[in-house]
Amino acid sequence: MKSIKNEAAARCPNHCEPFDVEYWSFISAEQDPDLKTAILGGELNLVQCPECKTFFHHDGDLIYFDAPSELLVFVFSEKDRQREPELVARMHKDYNLIKNTLLKQLNMDYPPICVFGLEALKGVLQGEEEASYESEAVAASAAAAGLRVVRLKPSYAREHHFPFYVPAPEKDQTPNGYAVAASKVLKTGLQSKMLRNFLDQMSQDKALPPQVL
Ligand SMILES: [Zn+2]
Repeated sequence: MKSIKNEAAARCPNHCEPFDVEYWSFISAEQDPDLKTAILGGELNLVQCPECKTFFHHDGDLIYFDAPSELLVFVFSEKDRQREPELVARMHKDYNLIKNTLLKQLNMDYPPICVFGLEALKGVLQGEEEASYESEAVAASAAAAGLRVVRLKPSYAREHHFPFYVPAPEKDQTPNGYAVAASKVLKTGLQSKMLRNFLDQMSQDKALPPQVL
C-alpha cells in the first residue's frame, strides 16, 4: 500500500496569507520507512511560509499505518482536541469503511488508536521503539536460557503491555506454562517490566493463553 499526499491551504502561525501545500495524509510505514523516520525527527509535513519564511508543521489530519506491527493511528489536528468525542466516533466509522474496502485483504482485527497532533504521533512511535528494544532483549535472554521464543500478536501485546516476544513453554502451553517460562528468564537477571507484567498476568487464576502468531 502506498503513502498518499493531499493538498490543503496552510496557515502560518504569524497570520500571513494562507498558501497551498502538499502534505502526507496517509503513511504506509511498511512501504515508506523514511516517512516514519521523518515523524521521529519532527520533519514530517514541515512547511515554510513564503511570506515570512517561518517553518511550521501543517496540522492536517492523517492516518499512520504499519501493517506488520498492527498499528493504525488516526492523527487529528491539535486544534480539534475539544471535538474528541465527535472525532473518535468518525474515526470508528472511517475505520469500518477502510477495513472493508481499502484494507480488506489484510483482515484487520484490531482497533485504531487516536491522537491529536504530530508530536503525539511521535510519542506513540517512540513508545513502540522502546517496546521493541525491550522485546528484543527478552528474546535474546530467552534464547540464551535455552528456551523457545514465540512472537505475540502485536496489537494484543501492545494492548496488554506485554513484550512482542516471549519465552514459550516446551509442553505445557497453558497460561501457567508461559508464566513458568517467563519466570525462568527473569531469574537470569533480565530487567523487563513488560515480561514481569506478562508473568503476573499469566499467573492469574482466570488467565487466558496468550495470542501467539
Ligand atoms: Zn508567515
